Amino acid sequence: MNIQTFDKVRSRDTAAPEAGCRLCGARLKHTFVDLGMSPPCENFLQAHQIDQMEEYYPLHALVCDTCFLVQLKEYVSPSAIFSEYAYFSSYSASWVAHAKAYCASITERLKLGPDSLAVELASNDGYLLQHFLPLGVQVLGIEPAANVARVAIDKGIPTRVEFFGVPLANRLVAEGVRADLIIGNNVLAQVPDLNSFVAGMKILLKPEGVITLEFPHTEKLIAEGQFDTIYHEHFSYFSLLTIDRMAKRHGLKLIDVEELPTHGGSLRVYLVHDGNGVAPAPRVSQLIEREKRHGLTDIATYASFGYKAQRAKRDLLAFLIAAKNEGKRICGYGAPGKGNTLLNYCAIGTDFLDFTVDRNPYKHGRFTPGMHIPIRPVEAIDEAKPDYILILPWNIQDEIIRQMRHASAWGARFIVPIPFVTIIDPAEVAR
Ligand SMILES: [Zn+2]
Repeated sequence: MNIQTFDKVRSRDTAAPEAGCRLCGARLKHTFVDLGMSPPCENFLQAHQIDQMEEYYPLHALVCDTCFLVQLKEYVSPSAIFSEYAYFSSYSASWVAHAKAYCASITERLKLGPDSLAVELASNDGYLLQHFLPLGVQVLGIEPAANVARVAIDKGIPTRVEFFGVPLANRLVAEGVRADLIIGNNVLAQVPDLNSFVAGMKILLKPEGVITLEFPHTEKLIAEGQFDTIYHEHFSYFSLLTIDRMAKRHGLKLIDVEELPTHGGSLRVYLVHDGNGVAPAPRVSQLIEREKRHGLTDIATYASFGYKAQRAKRDLLAFLIAAKNEGKRICGYGAPGKGNTLLNYCAIGTDFLDFTVDRNPYKHGRFTPGMHIPIRPVEAIDEAKPDYILILPWNIQDEIIRQMRHASAWGARFIVPIPFVTIIDPAEVAR
């Protein structure tokens, strides 16, 4: 983070210590979970940085008792987080396959053709928009991180390197750009100015256009104790009933929802202009009713979540301590953002994990923020032959265990930490 942006954030915090809800402005009075102090989870360190002071920020999630948005304060400035981003979507094979299937189905559903424009917000390295090109649909990516946007541009995907909100939406409309389809996959959580972002989508959308958004579902986060999906880059955590309030606030209408297995349980919602005559699918109200039955309009449901995180921490540490006392060797698999919340909250350093591995070469030779676990190429596991492999991106555990099934040759077991500690023998996993 450069000094200029840091000062800007600090002075804003000083000016408004009692910041209200990011969506509705109500005063925030209730803790969802307090995970202590943690470094920004994408700040992977180079070797020369591990002896230097590291920035730590509170990882304290709050919940609004008016709109039930779970949220972090803007502790870390988005320009610091997203101007160079270590996450390249294309390194997850299952995520790229998910994107490809989406492009085919939405093109069919909305009857998109050569005159249609699909705009993706936070288009990353073009992992999704690339699949529209063979379908003959025009595309535009919006991506603030220049390093990942460059990869998309090199693939032939037009990409604007900017943050999205009302100002950019107005400029695009002035240039004659309007969208038949606006896609926001796992971006809504990362938007500090949520209302400008949603108002921008409303401006950019053609009268008959459709917005689809995918985001991890707070109902699942609570039910399965997924506390590690909370990190500084994720400012907001949504239920469907909160999305419905967000849509109404901005003159949009929620017309459909799908439940997806991605990221530990996500929703894909479909929004249109509120004057659009499309009737909402029955499953919208059915899912909102289910959320109410699960207590998502009751502040006590949220307030008890912290105990789940504490329990998960004790259980994981108990297993790791017992394994180390038996002389077992343990390494990690993956270095995702959520992994760093887990490692820092539980204080799992190189006293437990010898190293972790990742498919993203950007991270090789670097160290995880806070716990300073070295990150190596995946092949390092084959050389080290550890007894246990802790899967940090547990949402893609099936993909990882399939790729690493050969670890059964030396008797390795996988540890899945969430929703509770589970030990998996790769030899027993069906092909
Ligand atoms: Zn609110």
